[in-house]
Amino acid sequence: MDFDYSPKVKTLRRRLKNFMGDHITPRIQQHHNEIKAGIFPVSFMEDLKELAKSEGLWNLFLPHLKEDEVGTRLSNLDYAPLAEIMGRVQWSPEVFNCNAPDTGNMEILHMFGTEAQKKHWLTPLLDGKIRSAFAMTEPDVSSSDATNIQTVMRRDKNDYVINGRKWFISNAAHPNCKIMIVMGKTDPNNENIHRQQSMILVPMDTAGVTVERNITIMNHHSPEGHCEITFKDVRVPITNILGGEGDGFMMAQTRLGPGRIHHCMRSIGQSELALDLMVERAQERKAFGKYLHQHGAVSEWIAHSRMEIDQARLLVLKTADMIDKVGAKGARKEISMIKAIIPKMQTTIADRAMQTFGAMGISPDTPLADIWTWGRALRYADGPDEVHLRSIARMEIKKAQEKQGFTLPYLTLPLRS
Ligand SMILES: Cc1cc2nc3c(=O)[nH]c(=O)nc-3n(C[C@H](O)[C@H](O)[C@H](O)COP(=O)(O)OP(=O)(O)OC[C@H]3O[C@@H](n4cnc5c(N)ncnc54)[C@H](O)[C@@H]3O)c2cc1C
Repeated sequence: MDFDYSPKVKTLRRRLKNFMGDHITPRIQQHHNEIKAGIFPVSFMEDLKELAKSEGLWNLFLPHLKEDEVGTRLSNLDYAPLAEIMGRVQWSPEVFNCNAPDTGNMEILHMFGTEAQKKHWLTPLLDGKIRSAFAMTEPDVSSSDATNIQTVMRRDKNDYVINGRKWFISNAAHPNCKIMIVMGKTDPNNENIHRQQSMILVPMDTAGVTVERNITIMNHHSPEGHCEITFKDVRVPITNILGGEGDGFMMAQTRLGPGRIHHCMRSIGQSELALDLMVERAQERKAFGKYLHQHGAVSEWIAHSRMEIDQARLLVLKTADMIDKVGAKGARKEISMIKAIIPKMQTTIADRAMQTFGAMGISPDTPLADIWTWGRALRYADGPDEVHLRSIARMEIKKAQEKQGFTLPYLTLPLRS
């Protein structure tokens, strides 16, 4: 196994790091101030996007682009370390058109959209002109299990009529959010529970779509939104369906493989930032006659954080490599493992860093509280930890059952001293 990054990735990493240092880090405070003053989108976002585009640091996430589409055609393994750099600051992936949920939506449109759907929605998304949302989760049912969703998509001549309620729909409050991919049931009586669902493109301004509220996350207001939305007799033409009727579940699975690599690498980027801050603080502050890092507890926090991040990164890179080689289905277990490990790691490391900072750690004067909050939220988004643990355990049990009896003789061997 070669642990070195390819020359192309090394170059992109250097260029991204420079871009982050020159254009993103100096604007963190301004971003904070503008959001606090109610300015959204922030005043410099479009200029930074143009700059990233002109420097070729644009749409890095999409591997299978055509000749006339802007992007770099990187594999998942190549892209992963770049997502880590872009994800270090929470708002910066948008500068490079690499933010969730747009990335997943673009992938779906790219893979399953018709030419007309691509022209209408994918092209402006790839250009960064509009933004999008993905609406699956519902307040009335356990949405960890996508077969539960209840939103009804009824065919009426040349239209679908949609009724339902969704919540925690990210991006839906963004003023440039123009399109939503909505998951619902076109065939609720299908005996195959994985063929009942479809995905339909619903423009945000369609009659009957109402953004009821933007839900705060741990009392933290995100201007782009995690919204509750109602659909009342929403009518869209049948040409708005993605793929075919009944393909919704399959497309949702496809979307989630690379998406989890992206989430996890951004999460690693933020964990690295938390560790950097912890290390800095521990070297400049003294308590009881010693620098903080000279106290055993703090030095262990630093060491554990370093080990955990490096372990996590290796596992994500391995997973990305597997997706490239055997597809997301073949890498199911690894995808679940990274999703169950890394958001939790992010909260653990952010928590240690907050503790190292004393009371300041939970104030808005460091990004640590935001890093913790986002890590915590990620323990639900794209499937809660427990669902992933269940999948991993099931695969382990299945593997053991397949080789049933193989290990048994060892258990019956007499123990010798
Ligand atoms: C910040 C944020 C952004 C989000 N963005 C989006 C978005 O853009 N679009 C969207 O559609 N959704 C979004 N979500 C919603 C997210 O995908 C769901 O919250 C998640 O799928 C869980 O569904 P649920 O909330 O209905 O929890 P439930 O399904 O009700 O589950 C509740 C709890 O039950 C436990 N549980 C569930 N299944 C099992 C099991 N098999 N074994 C053991 N325990 C289990 C888990 O602890 C779980 O947390 C977002 C959520 C957050 C927090």
